[in-house]
Formats: sequence, structure tokens, C-alpha cells
Amino acid sequence: MNSSIQSIRYLILTGLLSSFLCSVFAQKPGRKAELMAYYCEPCNNACDLERHDGPGACKHCGMPFVKRSVALMDSLRRGRKNQSSET
Ligand SMILES: [Zn+2]
Ligand SMILES: [Zn+2]
Repeated sequence: MNSSIQSIRYLILTGLLSSFLCSVFAQKPGRKAELMAYYCEPCNNACDLERHDGPGACKHCGMPFVKRSVALMDSLRRGRKNQSSET
């Protein structure tokens, strides 16, 4: 009797533990993580706002890529478009 109760307890405990661990690990990635991408250093060329998937150097201006927030660069791109539309 006692041993069967203990084994049930053990099952409940391990079940709780694994669900707890799952929730911890599930929360870690992506939580409030900003979308990042690689962009070349600002040099006032159009390529500055081009998004790249990995590190390297820009084919156009030769500047090394730096990791930046995609949201930030998209807002910069919008601002630049407005500027260039003036004639
Ligand atoms: Zn550049
Ligand atoms: Zn560039």
C-alpha cells in the first residue's frame, strides 16, 4: 500500500517538475525579444537600410555589418523616404 502511494506521489512530483521546467524554458526565447538583423554602418547610402541575415561586410560601401533592431531601422527607412520625396 505504502509503496504504491509513494510511487503515485513520485509521478505527481515529476509531472509537476517537468511542466514547471517546460514553462520556464518556453518563456525564455522570444519573450520581449526584439527582432534583430544585420545592417552596414551608417554612411548615408541606400545600402545602410538593407537587411542582412548574417554578419559580414557590405558589398556596396565595404562597411562591416552591425546588429540592429529591425523596428528601428524600418522607422529610419520611412523617415528617409519622406526626405527623398521632397524635390
Ligand atoms: Zn553603409
Ligand atoms: Zn553598405
